[in-house]
Amino acid sequence: MSKKDEKVDVKALQEKLTVDRKNGAAKLDASVIKKADKFCEGYKDFLAHAKTEREAVTEAIRIAEEAGFVPYDPMATYKAGDRVYVNNRGKAIMLAVIGTEGTRQGVHIAAAHIDNPRLDLKPHPVFEKDGLAQFKTHYYGGIKKYQWTAIPLSMHGRICRKDGSFVDITLGEKPGEPQFTVTDLLVHLAREQLKKPLGASIEGEKLNILIGSRPLEGADEDGKDLVKLNVLNILNEKFGITEEDFVSADIAFVPAAAPVDIGFDRSMVGSYGQDDRSCAYAALMAVVKAKTPYRTIVTVLADREEIGSDGNTGLNSSFMRYFIEDLAEADGVAPRHVLSRSRCLSADVTAAYDPNYPEVYEAMNSTYLNGGVGMSKYTGAGGKSGTNEASAEFVSEIRRIFDENDVLWQIGELGAVDAGGGGTVAMYIANLNVDVVDVGVPVLSMHAPFEVTSKIDEYMTYKGIKAFYESK
Ligand code: MN
Ligand code: MN
Repeated sequence: MSKKDEKVDVKALQEKLTVDRKNGAAKLDASVIKKADKFCEGYKDFLAHAKTEREAVTEAIRIAEEAGFVPYDPMATYKAGDRVYVNNRGKAIMLAVIGTEGTRQGVHIAAAHIDNPRLDLKPHPVFEKDGLAQFKTHYYGGIKKYQWTAIPLSMHGRICRKDGSFVDITLGEKPGEPQFTVTDLLVHLAREQLKKPLGASIEGEKLNILIGSRPLEGADEDGKDLVKLNVLNILNEKFGITEEDFVSADIAFVPAAAPVDIGFDRSMVGSYGQDDRSCAYAALMAVVKAKTPYRTIVTVLADREEIGSDGNTGLNSSFMRYFIEDLAEADGVAPRHVLSRSRCLSADVTAAYDPNYPEVYEAMNSTYLNGGVGMSKYTGAGGKSGTNEASAEFVSEIRRIFDENDVLWQIGELGAVDAGGGGTVAMYIANLNVDVVDVGVPVLSMHAPFEVTSKIDEYMTYKGIKAFYESK
């Protein structure tokens, strides 16, 4: 028989040789999708209660303690299966399960962040102008400022008085509580504003939060700033604070909306703060649910990622290294050897391909909603600058672990070459001589007050981190 008479099974060959990037929802069993939907009920609850890094730490401790985690004591000795956590200043947390091999072969780390773009109060925030009381803000993280006007906002954070006592505030989340907003110019008078480029249409100093409009009742004289005084009086009665106490406060204003299902098919989650609470929740549940591992596993939920990971609660500081050093010394191993043998999933969101903006993506190398957990070999911008790049060997190991554990995954870049870019905590951990690769949930409208993710991707990120933790 001559060669051209041979029948080639094209379909079989395609299956063998080419990458299948079909919508994951079409590939998965209904029972798996049902599990994903169920997992995301817990996820939405976490999003609703953890709108700041402080609240995320509080929620993580609540969930972890219910699962048997206890505060870590560097003086204590631990055995395989023991569950501990380290609370770093109420703003970052590490949760570990001791492995049967301890730290001798290195540790398995999953690192996510729990800070989000938001509006922070300035140290002297309260003012009254033309009869309206407002708060001055300084935005935190990368925001499109126009997105933060004319939406309901809630108040979150801690105010410390001079005597060291403090009050924690969450206002505007429960039904019936007052909310706040940044006013926007009416379109009727916005002729000049609408001519400005989008990034210049709202100035940072115009992101003032409306907090009151009525003057103090029963004021015996026509004093100045009686609306401001009325607000300060309410704050004093409710929280026992004065204007000066704002100098020692961490107060953030965030979107007040609750997490919801998106779509007629309820396949997606819409909420503020999914960068990076989607991966934070996945990494938290993975450490809570993982079977006793071979290597010690460590979930790190870090602060300050959105502004570059600097500061003592960010991963550019030494807090994670110190913890791993403590664990290593307890096992009698040199900490540098433990770090050099360690491996890490830098769990942070990636950009989901948005069909409305195809010009900034490269379709073949994008990650898609319902494609599963998204891997990024590198992030960065402009010729792979400012990033860690995972080695071919390490990516190979992770894809094997994912495939062996039925984890739906995909790999892509954040956008087209030179369209922009972004970074994660990956490089700070890689700089400790740890093997690191970025994995995470693809997000639509990233950094907007309302972000969208797929329930399948959220569940697969959890499953992927858990499989990594349980792998040898
Ligand atoms: Mn992020
Ligand atoms: Mn971000």
